[in-house]
Amino acid sequence: MSERHGFWLHHIRNSKSSINGFFYLPECDCSVCGTTMRMEKPVCPNCKAVMDQEVPEEIREEIKKYTEERNQGAMNDSEFMRIIKSSLQDDTPWK
Ligand SMILES: [Zn+2]
Repeated sequence: MSERHGFWLHHIRNSKSSINGFFYLPECDCSVCGTTMRMEKPVCPNCKAVMDQEVPEEIREEIKKYTEERNQGAMNDSEFMRIIKSSLQDDTPWK
């Protein structure tokens, strides 16, 4: 049985008062199994993945892209989460 590793992908909410145009909520999804938790834990209670991975560059890029499009009113939060999740399902080396 090999140990799995992942990271918490935080939910976001729009905020005009934030520099980025959004802020992170305490709720987060496991990058391995997608379970939503109310806060980060060191190990995912559902799939037992060790949550010691950095958020990958491509996800950061998605967030940056989202921020720009969000500022133009092009996307909503659920659309953003869908994009992030679909990018997670593509060849992710940590799975
Ligand atoms: Zn999990």
